[in-house]
Amino acid sequence: MYSTSYGFGQPRAAQTTIPCRTCGTALRVERTCHEVFLRCTTCRTTHDVGEYVAQMDEALESFMENVYCDRT
Ligand SMILES: [Zn+2]
Repeated sequence: MYSTSYGFGQPRAAQTTIPCRTCGTALRVERTCHEVFLRCTTCRTTHDVGEYVAQMDEALESFMENVYCDRT
């Protein structure tokens, strides 16, 4: 079986309160199966989560907890 969805009740994107360093827009966190990144919809850029880890908010933290498809 191969599904195009990545599981049940696990969103692939979430809105955070973390401001973009360039423009101040709240970043969105998005993921692929094994990668998580922050996207600024204003700058149209993506940022490594590591760059913003010091500013991690609740939305990002809970998102990260559900990120990985396979924890083994
Ligand atoms: Zn920006």
